Amino acid sequence: MDIKQVRADFPILNQQVNGEKLVYFDNAATSQTPLPVLNTICQYYLKENANVHRGVHTLAERATEHYERVRQQVADFIHAASSNEIIFTRSTTESLNDIARGLGDNILQPGDEIVISIMEHHSNLVPWQELAARTGAKLKYIELDNHQELDLNSATEQITPKTKIVAVTAASNVLGTINPIKQIVQLAHHAHAWVVVDAAQYVGHHVVDVQDWDADFVAFSGHKMLGPTGIGVLYGKQDLLNIMHPVQFGGEMIEDVTRQRTTFKKSPLGFEAGTPNISGAVGLGAAIDYLNKVGIKNIEKREQSLANYLLPHLQKIDHLTLYGPQDHHTGVFAFNLDGLHPHDVATGLDLEGVAVRAGHHCAQPLMHTLGVTATARASLAFYNTKEECDQFIQSLVAVKEFFSNGLG
Ligand code: PMP
Repeated sequence: MDIKQVRADFPILNQQVNGEKLVYFDNAATSQTPLPVLNTICQYYLKENANVHRGVHTLAERATEHYERVRQQVADFIHAASSNEIIFTRSTTESLNDIARGLGDNILQPGDEIVISIMEHHSNLVPWQELAARTGAKLKYIELDNHQELDLNSATEQITPKTKIVAVTAASNVLGTINPIKQIVQLAHHAHAWVVVDAAQYVGHHVVDVQDWDADFVAFSGHKMLGPTGIGVLYGKQDLLNIMHPVQFGGEMIEDVTRQRTTFKKSPLGFEAGTPNISGAVGLGAAIDYLNKVGIKNIEKREQSLANYLLPHLQKIDHLTLYGPQDHHTGVFAFNLDGLHPHDVATGLDLEGVAVRAGHHCAQPLMHTLGVTATARASLAFYNTKEECDQFIQSLVAVKEFFSNGLG
């Protein structure tokens, strides 16, 4: 990978923050957007902008063709069997809510079980809690093992013949772990349960093959894979989308409307009520082009090598607790410094030009399990460098010393 060339595509990275060179280590919250994606969105507005699936004029046809081309691109990118299995949504959050409402409300009975993991982001947790409350189903958790990784034994215990839905993340936004999705799918399917995969932290970092996973539903967001905000994807197996109910109603998703009744289009258009985020989809398509050009395998390799470089440097810092496994990590590092609030750590780092996140990372039950209320979190992307890892470590040590001197 020509990192100079890559970084030239991300001008936002080349700036000073608080008088220091910016180190953007908040990629798990949102990734940066390369010039080709911005240019494609701009060209779309300059040459193609029109509503999709409505007009017969040339611009409308151009916009529709582009929007549907991206749907096929997404299908190819995640190895879906058909573009009819790709629904454009606003985000991972919307995709997961759509499944909980559109399928969950129809199939769950009192006493049925929903199984999720304790490391889930609130967007793959609260919709299931709410679904359980609406239907009388029971929400159960797969716990962590001693290494703070998903415990497959716990999964085996929790998934029972009463389980109807298993919803897990493919990669944790806190622990720096990847979950064994194929094994979870096997356990779930053995119990005749459907599996929903939150791939928000996985897509764009690793090759995704939804058919190899045999996942029933997969959700992810464009803004975590170099695309714009406001566009997300819901993948569902065709036969399941056929029994899923739309949760939003309005223009373009209908087949026939009479005074009292309406019939709906099949997937995907039956789930895309109203004017969709067309420019968002266009941007997502350009992001996929960019990821494919750099190569997902190259991205995975580079991120892993940066993570392997950072891990021992972080562990060498005295009074630092790193969460998740200690012998391997993805590019996500949640940590705390003894006696310091993570917000103070993040503010101190910001003064040094380093952008990290601090808080509960929308994973309060996980924080509770880890025995904390919040952590700081550094998260890498392939466009980061070893020099930035060094600057981060130096800044972290400086922040630690500043506070210990100030407090001492
Ligand atoms: N799941 C995980 C694992 C995430 O990291 C995030 C974003 N932090 C989400 C879901 C939600 O994504 P969005 O806010 O784009 O809907």
